[in-house]
Amino acid sequence: MLSFDQALAKIINEVSPTGTELCDLRSSHLRVLAQNVVAGYDVPRFDNSSMDGYSLRAEDTLGAASDRGAELPIEGEIGAGDTGERTLKPGSACRIFTGGAVPRGADAVIEQECVEVVDKKILLRTPVSSGRNIRRRGEDVLFGQTVLEHGVSISAARLGVLASLGLSQVLVYSTPRVAILTTGNELVDVDEPLELGKIRDSNSYTLASLVREAGCVAAPIGRATDSIPVLSEKLKVGLSHDALITSGGVSVGDRDLVLETLKELGAEILFWKVNIKPGMPFAFCLFRKQGKSKPVPVFALPGNPVSTMVTFLQLVRPALEKMRGLRGGHLNVRLRATLEQDHEKRDGKRHFVRGIVRNENGKLLVRKSGSQSSGVLTSMLVANCLVIIPEDVSLAKAGTEVEIELLRESL
Ligand code: AMP
Ligand code: MG
Repeated sequence: MLSFDQALAKIINEVSPTGTELCDLRSSHLRVLAQNVVAGYDVPRFDNSSMDGYSLRAEDTLGAASDRGAELPIEGEIGAGDTGERTLKPGSACRIFTGGAVPRGADAVIEQECVEVVDKKILLRTPVSSGRNIRRRGEDVLFGQTVLEHGVSISAARLGVLASLGLSQVLVYSTPRVAILTTGNELVDVDEPLELGKIRDSNSYTLASLVREAGCVAAPIGRATDSIPVLSEKLKVGLSHDALITSGGVSVGDRDLVLETLKELGAEILFWKVNIKPGMPFAFCLFRKQGKSKPVPVFALPGNPVSTMVTFLQLVRPALEKMRGLRGGHLNVRLRATLEQDHEKRDGKRHFVRGIVRNENGKLLVRKSGSQSSGVLTSMLVANCLVIIPEDVSLAKAGTEVEIELLRESL
């Protein structure tokens, strides 16, 4: 049986982005950039004023003192957006507004509230230092500078920077289309009669939401009963997508037929079972299609709803993040917190314990969120993190530090 680290490394090694495409800047929010972005000009493109006031030459104010003010006649006016180059006459000041281009010859802007205006002249009582209130050309971005590298998600700030550089389109990675197939004779949908012996197919909904939260397109393709012909038909549909996630049917029971059917269809099972709890029967397969260079990854998840969620978050989401082009995004962010209760285990597995973390005076404290049964989906409602208890720890004592991962979307 593979360790968690081995399993994740194997998966990450086998998946890659599905392709790239051009995208209008307006639609590119939260897509992943597939190009480096080099500035085609300086930002800002010209020295401009950061205040409403008067542009002037600092040297013309050197003699200003409280008993002997320096007087500069006001010559002209420059507002934000005014175009054309202007020159400041020596010994004068030019009215300027925030964002206005500083005229040639001026090297400072004095705020309007710092001067007296008498007879179309400004009167200064202290010298102004050179550079005051001027936003220099290129102080934000220099021409030729690499501002963004491929493999990052286009956040609000990044989108703004792309706009400031005048890009109307950007190259982004294609969004993977991920098929979701739930399996089990017991499953019925939310609007079907719930006869004794049947249960609702909640995984189809949870998984579709998790796939969307991971930035991919979710394609739920329905349910399959535990029968090889039915599974075969449904799996074939699933394998025509960029990736396939199945739930259920991967344990050791007579009706656990997902892996057998995948094998019959020609998929290669790279591994089955990972040394974790919950989610041990997880399997990872590759399906190679004739004439296609990239194999379709298949993530076969156990059906217990918490096992499904935990294995998705720990082993599938990192793969989907890599497939949608994120670089280094496959490291789930971990924090350290102090455990408030003992956690005992003797199975040598890595445990992902549902926890509730809180911040008390700047210190993170975490406790278990009640039942740890992998069938109790509502335990994921109160949990806001997963506590990671490593394989070699048999007793994590209250008061010790543990690693936690926030359940990001439930915050
Ligand atoms: P399995 O992995 O097929 O052995 O399923 C284990 C258990 O998970 C089943 O007995 C069901 O209680 C539950 N289960 C399986 N599939 C689903 C599903 N799609 N939605 C909710 N619960 C499920
Ligand atoms: Mg089943």
